Amino acid sequence: MYFYKDGFLEKKDLHISPDDRGYYFGDGVYEVFRVYNGRIYEQEAHMQRLQKSASEVRIALPYSSQEIENILSKLVHENGIVEGTIYMQITRGEAPRAHPFPKDAQPVMLAYCTDVKRPTATIQSGIHAISFEDIRWLRCDLKTLNLLPNVMAKQAALDHGVQEVILHRSGTVTECSASNFMMVKDHILYTHPANNLILHGITRAVVLRLARALQIDVKEEPFTLQQLQQADEAFITGTTVEVTPVIHIDGKPIGSGEPGPITRKLQNEFERTFAV
Ligand code: PMP
Repeated sequence: MYFYKDGFLEKKDLHISPDDRGYYFGDGVYEVFRVYNGRIYEQEAHMQRLQKSASEVRIALPYSSQEIENILSKLVHENGIVEGTIYMQITRGEAPRAHPFPKDAQPVMLAYCTDVKRPTATIQSGIHAISFEDIRWLRCDLKTLNLLPNVMAKQAALDHGVQEVILHRSGTVTECSASNFMMVKDHILYTHPANNLILHGITRAVVLRLARALQIDVKEEPFTLQQLQQADEAFITGTTVEVTPVIHIDGKPIGSGEPGPITRKLQNEFERTFAV
């Protein structure tokens, strides 16, 4: 069962207009939630980010937060999701193709669940990555539908036979195609500051909170690809990837070439935040 526009229906009964501005312009915002044990993880933080993304691109949410939360929880419940994800997007609405905001279009919401499981194999083994130029716009803090640069970057990784890209602007590491990036050097955890150049990841915030509770020094400051080469450990954070170690970058091992001890500690702590 899906939610579309103003009601619940089956996917086969869902008709999307070619005039939807999400389709023409990527003119919309979205969120991806994790479901653990039938419950939506960090729902409040996701709702706040959705509100911020929508308000900054001047889309009026078609429902109150409470109404959206009710819709999402009904989707999880009716689809019998115990472990999975929720995808939701809100576009500016339907109107003949023209750049100005349409005067009388109603924002359109789409939401559905998946039963995609936790990527436990790569959480355990770690992944390989390449560095890749970050050519995105200057509002990467907004979760909008314009993901073509992210799609291109991810495909470049796969074409190189690795799983992920480490994005950089003129050598300064920002984040990854669909996750935030952190490195450990001399027991200090480094990650790019939460400004306009990265998405303010919910998982990033959880992991930084856990690190501080473990008395790990945290530095939210930019670092370069050159500094990254000297790192002891590296990992990505995200709703779907959780805390996944990065063990090789551009063909060279990070630290020992195995997931490091601080990464493992944070993975364990992270698992405790959703365990029953
Ligand atoms: N950066 C980008 C570009 C992303 O698409 C995502 C996934 N939403 C993240 C970071 C991680 O954010 P979160 O932890 O909220 O999933």
